[in-house]
Amino acid sequence: MAGQQPSDALAHGVHWPTDAAFRVRQLTKVYRSGEVEVQALRGIELDLQQGEFVVLLGPSGSGKSTLLNILGGLDIPSSGEVWYRDHQLHGADERELTRFRREHVGFVFQFYNLIPSLTALENVALVTEIATDPMPPHEALERVGLEARMDHFPSQLSGGEQQRVAIARAIAKRPDVLLCDEPTGALDAVTGVRVLAALESANRELGTTTLVITHNADIARLAHRVLHLGAGRIMREVVNEARVHALELTW
Ligand code: ADP
Repeated sequence: MAGQQPSDALAHGVHWPTDAAFRVRQLTKVYRSGEVEVQALRGIELDLQQGEFVVLLGPSGSGKSTLLNILGGLDIPSSGEVWYRDHQLHGADERELTRFRREHVGFVFQFYNLIPSLTALENVALVTEIATDPMPPHEALERVGLEARMDHFPSQLSGGEQQRVAIARAIAKRPDVLLCDEPTGALDAVTGVRVLAALESANRELGTTTLVITHNADIARLAHRVLHLGAGRIMREVVNEARVHALELTW
């Protein structure tokens, strides 16, 4: 596979990024239900660098979740190539994708999906028990500022705190990649900022390559790079010369 890289890079006329975590070429996704076809992605070209914090913006239906799900091995492309390092995700079967997700990816979604009958600590421990090189569950909760709430059940926590437990759960297995689909979508601004700060510190301190989908253009100011999706294509890409820290955001 390594042997294909230079010719692939040459074929696309690009400089080969030595530390690209993801490499996406001519990615398309078509959903078919009966007679109806939806072209969700229409030829995405993208490299995500190791340790990058990237925000994905775009109107509803522009293909953001589809792209995130394919990068995370939750969905498969209709055509094109998706590589995570030397893992070929296009054409991978369910078993290979499950393994890829387990070994490399943490997910954070809009709704926290915590188990109500388990404490915060137990919710995180559930994941660390099956990971290869996890951090202790209490360390993951400390990293998101919840050291005082470890023994609380989800119903005793605010929405923002529950989302931070979900982030602790995602980072506890030390994933290489953190994929977040509208992580602050259900939160008010103040709570949302603390959730973003938790993502930001995971990216900075653990070097986790992070992709965040949001509707909030302000959140884009945290990113190294902002991708604007429209109708299944990357319409615009902006590199932030100066990043803003989450706790400096004023909404
Ligand atoms: P976004 O995240 O930007 O809102 P999505 O990636 O969710 O966009 O959706 C892109 C397009 O694909 C939309 O038109 C959506 O309706 C369609 N779509 C997404 N998932 C499915 C699916 N499982 N079956 C059929 N159509 C889908």
